[in-house]
Amino acid sequence: MINEFHKDYLVVAKNASGRSMQVPVYRFIGKQHGPVVYIQSSIHGAEVQGNVVIYHLIQLLKSLPIRGEIILVPNCNPVGTNIKAGEYTLGRFDPVNGTNWNRGYFYDRDAVLKFARTVGAEESIQSIKQRFRAHLLQGLQRRMSNDWGLGLANQLNLKLQLVAANADIVLDLHNGPVSSRHLYVPEYAEAAATHFNIPHIIYIPNTFAGALDEATFCPWWTLSESLSKKHQRQFDFGVEAFTVEMGSQEVVNFSEGEEDAQGILSYLNSRNVLIDAHVTPKKMPRYATELANYKTLFTQMGGIVEYCAKPGTPVKQGDCLAKVLNVDELENERAVELISAPCDLIPILHFPSASVLSGTQLYKCFTEYRQVT
Ligand SMILES: [Zn+2]
Repeated sequence: MINEFHKDYLVVAKNASGRSMQVPVYRFIGKQHGPVVYIQSSIHGAEVQGNVVIYHLIQLLKSLPIRGEIILVPNCNPVGTNIKAGEYTLGRFDPVNGTNWNRGYFYDRDAVLKFARTVGAEESIQSIKQRFRAHLLQGLQRRMSNDWGLGLANQLNLKLQLVAANADIVLDLHNGPVSSRHLYVPEYAEAAATHFNIPHIIYIPNTFAGALDEATFCPWWTLSESLSKKHQRQFDFGVEAFTVEMGSQEVVNFSEGEEDAQGILSYLNSRNVLIDAHVTPKKMPRYATELANYKTLFTQMGGIVEYCAKPGTPVKQGDCLAKVLNVDELENERAVELISAPCDLIPILHFPSASVLSGTQLYKCFTEYRQVT
């Protein structure tokens, strides 16, 4: 066998009948030492394309020798996937507490800074990394054994994080509502962005808002910054995490999924996970912006909407983004209102429904963007 292969199950929740809800955990272990990679999909239950991507990755990894280990957890939120209302999956929020399923991961900045004080000038990267990982895992265990218990989403997140915290590379596969492919990249790992085959890149700072990518990179980034300041040299721990948005929710496309899997392999190859593989990034235009310039456009009015701007296609200031029909004004000139672009932008995603209330997030857009090579 090219790689060692294991399949286990992880219990992530219990339903009201007391039954365990479990997810499969697929592991490929290479014969050579290397990074540990963790990839999960569908923490938001309607965002299903990542499962197809993981399927393709598993097919490809059967004949691709690797270094280190790759852990794949598809459909990691069996609660979210099964919450349907009519034709739709309501997979974004824990229905019990209303929490976003991707905001309950754990990060304790003060604990990182406290740990940084235990590192001496002579300690090797390898040793710091080993001690810090044990420290992170202990913190997670303590959080999970909280006497007062934890909410449903929080429990699920921490069970997954306990697996992900062992990894050097974490990829969380998502989808937007109606969306182009885009990638969240921590600013310190900017160079990694062009190794994926993803045309739109958002650089994010070292701030924690509860998501898995942030919970993974914030501790290592903070530790690295703190130690660099103290010891006046660089500390590179090689830990990177990304949220990868693979098109639109409620949509599955097998052939695009195979391309998505190739893009992930291209990045993993840049990190030396693959042995003698000739997987390189596609030549394609890539556009990037900072998180602060990734803007949400809300509707002022409610009504029936035609989305005129296509996700991924640049729009000039003043061009029409959407037409809103107001059924209360059909006989007069206020029947149709145009929503135009406030500046030059690239629409990345839009609301999935053609009927909206006032204050709906209609589009999310790149502004102040630039091409990257
Ligand atoms: Zn998502």
